[in-house]
Amino acid sequence: MKKIQGNDSFQRINYLYQISKEIADKNPVLSAYYGNLFINVAKKNVAKIHPDIKRQICKKCRCILIHKVTANMSIKKKNKSKMVEYLCNTCGSKKNFPAKKDKDYRTWLEKPESVVEVVS
Ligand SMILES: [Zn+2]
Repeated sequence: MKKIQGNDSFQRINYLYQISKEIADKNPVLSAYYGNLFINVAKKNVAKIHPDIKRQICKKCRCILIHKVTANMSIKKKNKSKMVEYLCNTCGSKKNFPAKKDKDYRTWLEKPESVVEVVS
């Protein structure tokens, strides 16, 4: 098996993310604690968290945002463009994403050409 640099921390981030998601409906504060932990692990190891995961985390309290569980999602109109808005139930902060059918909002990491190698 090939050795990947920072593999241990990836596993740790993955594990913490899963607990954070599991526990979100029972204890959002604890979920935020785990969210904080894995973001700090990532920062320390200069690892990038996938945008899909990043979007699910409240930017203020770092709780996992799940519609109707820890957050409320709504569609807002702003300057002719539609926005998806998440309102965190734990700390009350808002998070917005642009949403438009015919536009590609994927970040570089989400595009297939960003994958250099798949390691199993
Ligand atoms: Zn929050």
